[in-house]
Amino acid sequence: MHLYVHVPFCVRRCSYCDFSIAVRKRVPVQEYVDVLLKEAATLPASDFQTVYFGGGTPSLLPPDAISTVLHELTSQHRTPHAAREVTIEANPEDVTVDSARIWQAAGINRVSLGAQSFDDTVLAWMHRSHAAARIGAAVHALRGAGIDNISLDLIFALPDELQRDWERDLDMALALRPTHLSLYGLTVEPRTPLDRWISRGATHPPDEERYAEEYLFAHRRLTADGFEFYEVSNAARDGFRSQHNSAYWSGKPYVGLGPAAHSFDGTTRRWNLRAWEAYRGAIAEGRSVVESEEMLTKEQREIEGLYLALRTAAGLPLAALSPRRPWPPQFAAQGWVEVRDGRLKCTPEGWLRLDSLVNELTMHTETRQ
Ligand code: SF4
Repeated sequence: MHLYVHVPFCVRRCSYCDFSIAVRKRVPVQEYVDVLLKEAATLPASDFQTVYFGGGTPSLLPPDAISTVLHELTSQHRTPHAAREVTIEANPEDVTVDSARIWQAAGINRVSLGAQSFDDTVLAWMHRSHAAARIGAAVHALRGAGIDNISLDLIFALPDELQRDWERDLDMALALRPTHLSLYGLTVEPRTPLDRWISRGATHPPDEERYAEEYLFAHRRLTADGFEFYEVSNAARDGFRSQHNSAYWSGKPYVGLGPAAHSFDGTTRRWNLRAWEAYRGAIAEGRSVVESEEMLTKEQREIEGLYLALRTAAGLPLAALSPRRPWPPQFAAQGWVEVRDGRLKCTPEGWLRLDSLVNELTMHTETRQ
């Protein structure tokens, strides 16, 4: 089993973000910890192989609160003590020598830093709360505390007018010697500040050509530096793949705690009430925090398994395609997929077209039923 803990608080909303968050200047720390542990107490006893604090901004919680949550989960026999990987997502400005030391003592052994860019103009446009200089300072504080497994998030394909230098940002990220990088192309989600800016002509939507160029450039640059893209958006040095996220991509069961958290037991997916206020209200009144659930049909599980497998470098076993899912030969002719070791794998160019490939494969399924 794998455990995800959602911390919904952020100090402000980033310009591109449509996540379920609660914008708070002051985080209701004690109340959050109390209600989270009440939800945890409803779980069966389990040993979790990985634990992941995601958000939102988990690093807005005082580090002692993270220690308390991990300690209490252990004493409830929902134990992360055996977890090989315990990750916290952090904004660079929240990482100090003290917070890094307390996290490390609590069992955190991996930190995913929301760097996004090393250009202060770009960070201000994104409404990020950190300055570029804080990213390096955070990495050094983490290493000083003994946390060496550090991932950096970067966003690419930004509007032209920002004149973002993607090569420089990649170089600056690599100079910090992270073990892992997550690269996400900018997308325009409805009702975000970015969506409104585009509607009134104040900026432009991301350009597809720039997206492809920057994505492929990152593949070349990071591969030359010894990274492997083991998933469409994630690259790691040898031995530093995210075990938690790899569990999602291989269809393993997981449990989510906190508002908007999802859980999956292998056949049924359920998700919690999205809004913090609704979630805390349900716990206070002794009601279930589960908003809804769906049992996946065999067909849905197959299609989802196909999509998840093609996201990864391991690819899809050919046996999973045949005889009902012949793969479209034009993808191989264009160099977008290749067959190696009995598996169908996307090339970087293929990952740019992952949705079309999955559509083609699932269309074949539907027409052959
Ligand atoms: S910090 Fe993350 S979750 Fe919070 S607003 Fe920004 S992108 Fe969204």
